[in-house]
Amino acid sequence: MSSFSNSSMASVDEGRYCRCGNEALLKTSWTQLNLGRRFFTCRISKKMGGCDYFLWYEDRHPPQANRVMWGLLKKVNAFDEKLKRARNIFILGVVAAGLLMFGIWKLKPNC
Ligand SMILES: [Zn+2]
Repeated sequence: MSSFSNSSMASVDEGRYCRCGNEALLKTSWTQLNLGRRFFTCRISKKMGGCDYFLWYEDRHPPQANRVMWGLLKKVNAFDEKLKRARNIFILGVVAAGLLMFGIWKLKPNC
């Protein structure tokens, strides 16, 4: 996603509006650099004439889960040489648990 390079640190402000005047969509980043970080983006895709709006959403009370997830992944990496197969299964579990947790957050009303 090229729009990631446009990232800017901004104050927290829920219910943002993109340049089209639509309420911006709050999404979760899944890039390795920004795992679990959330950002506002235009709800219309660029191809459909959206404005390519992009703004990081900074949680006032950041959930601990992505830190926990990274901790687990680091631990898993330490076992790399010994337990490659077990690690893969474990990562699947961590990712599944992470997806579940992020899914639950997404269900929370944003207003
Ligand atoms: Zn827009």
